[in-house]
Amino acid sequence: MECKKTQYASEQLALDDVKRIGDKSSRSTIPVRAYKCNHCDFWHLTSKENRVEKYIRELLCELDSLKKENVTLRKTSDSGEKLKIKIDSRVAELMKANETLYKENKKLRSDNGDLICRNIQLKSQIEKMSTNQQNQSND
Ligand SMILES: [Zn+2]
Repeated sequence: MECKKTQYASEQLALDDVKRIGDKSSRSTIPVRAYKCNHCDFWHLTSKENRVEKYIRELLCELDSLKKENVTLRKTSDSGEKLKIKIDSRVAELMKANETLYKENKKLRSDNGDLICRNIQLKSQIEKMSTNQQNQSND
C-alpha cells in the first residue's frame, strides 16, 4: 500500500520535523508526534495526540483554569479583608457614638433626678404654704 504522507527514515528525523514545523507553523493543525507506519514501515507525522499527551494537555488546561480561579479567589479574599476593615471601623464609630449617647443619657438622668428632687421640695413647700394658709384661716 502506497502512503501519501511524508516518509521519515527514523523517528528522530520525524521528531526534528515536528519541532521545526511546530516552531513556525500558524496552521490550525500542527503535527505533534511521530508514529511508525504499519504499511510502509517509515515514520509519519500526525496532529493527533496520543492518550497521554491528551491527558497532559487536559491537565494543563485544568491547571490553568485553577490558577485563574485562585486569582479570582484571592481578589475576593482581599475585598473581604477590606470589607472587614470597613466594618471594624464602622463598629468603632458606632461604639464611640454609643458611648457619647450613654454619657448624655447619664447626664439627662442626673438632671431628671435633680428636677424630681426640686419638684418634691416645691410640692412640700406648697403643702406647707397651704397648711399655713389653712391654719391662718382657722385662726
Ligand atoms: Zn506509511
